[in-house]
Amino acid sequence: MFEYHQPDLSGHFGIYGGSFASETLTHALEELKAAYAKYQHDPEFQREFRYELAHFVGRPSPVYHAARMSREMGGAQIFLKREDLNHTGAHKVNNTIGQAMLAKRMGKPRIIAETGAGQHGVATATICARYGLECVVYMGSEDVKRQSPNVYRMHLLGAKVVPVDSGSKTLKDALNEAMRDWVTNVENTFYIIGTVAGPHPYPMMVRDFQSVIGEECLTQMPLIQEEIGMAPKQPDAVLACVGGGSNAMGIFYPYIPYENTRLIGVEATGEGLDSGKHSASLQRGSPGVLHGNRTYILQDDNGQITETHSISAGLDYPGVGPEHAFLKDIGRAEYVGCTDKEALEAFHYLCRTEGIIPALESSHAVAYAMKLAKTMRPDQSILVNLSGRGDKDIGTVADLSNAEFFCRPSCRGQSVKGGL
Ligand SMILES: *Cc1c(COP(=O)(O)O)cnc(C)c1O
Repeated sequence: MFEYHQPDLSGHFGIYGGSFASETLTHALEELKAAYAKYQHDPEFQREFRYELAHFVGRPSPVYHAARMSREMGGAQIFLKREDLNHTGAHKVNNTIGQAMLAKRMGKPRIIAETGAGQHGVATATICARYGLECVVYMGSEDVKRQSPNVYRMHLLGAKVVPVDSGSKTLKDALNEAMRDWVTNVENTFYIIGTVAGPHPYPMMVRDFQSVIGEECLTQMPLIQEEIGMAPKQPDAVLACVGGGSNAMGIFYPYIPYENTRLIGVEATGEGLDSGKHSASLQRGSPGVLHGNRTYILQDDNGQITETHSISAGLDYPGVGPEHAFLKDIGRAEYVGCTDKEALEAFHYLCRTEGIIPALESSHAVAYAMKLAKTMRPDQSILVNLSGRGDKDIGTVADLSNAEFFCRPSCRGQSVKGGL
């Protein structure tokens, strides 16, 4: 068994993590740390969390054997952890429930969040509706334009979406604006962060809430392998895409002690690692401080954050959770990449071969699994975290694929004739 005790009391994962925040926020973070320490092991908190996951989210999500895909690859058996089947369509809701439950207990009736693609915004708006909490979501004005269905979802759920016009008008600008709001309204406001980033205790807390994914797999993997006639064991490799890193930490964390299981994070290499157009913070970044913690970030020689790119908005982030930085340095996890093109191919392949439309983010992990499977034996297994469903991405895919889809760019905005 691999020995692992992270983070330390100040939230350090080795030299990464920690808490870089203004004085006003130091108090709020201390308050949050104390509340989390109090409720983390509280049986009533845990009972309510499990209840919500079971009855509101629909957990446990199944582990599915992608039999046709495995056969066609001719190597390892590929299994998919179906986070796409969760209520709201991705893993993010696991975490927003946990944090909203803390907000209720801390007596904070107002929730703020930031969102890029809108997935975290929707998950936050959803749980705020469920708990009767006020919800304000900051979103770059570019993203508001690009992700209009999710903006409308948030409106339907009763949230206020605030477009942010500064900087590149995307996720990192929304994050700065949310921080500013929090400093101003810290008394009555809880800031729900959507990934394993930010100052301590967020990376640890979000990881803990998302760990339900890996915990379920520890039970499910031996069972399903036995059912299909394999040895009842843990997988040889666990794969997940890495944006901020929360779906990856959620499935990796319970597997860290299992040394025979490789942990592989798949970053978005966009148009290629050497193109300058990618979001591969762990492969091409260097240590620095971003959004309250020390981690690998994409920066230029002057420490300025560089522009990132990915076909999938959810992976388009210049940093990464500090625990991934640590796992990379100690060699417990490996970080690889898939390009836009490979992800898009895997997206179509999974649609047609397994009848599952994956999120473009998750398609990166699927793409790498397809390559890896071919190098392994049929008695070996790969577990892929299918972090979300692809309904949100069909417009992007239609624009890029120039296939004979009913909603080609040329017919956008017009009524759909024939079919469907
Ligand atoms: C947001 C999102 C991601 C990326 O975020 P992580 O924190 O890296 O998990 C991945 N997949 C889906 C479906 C998402 O919505």
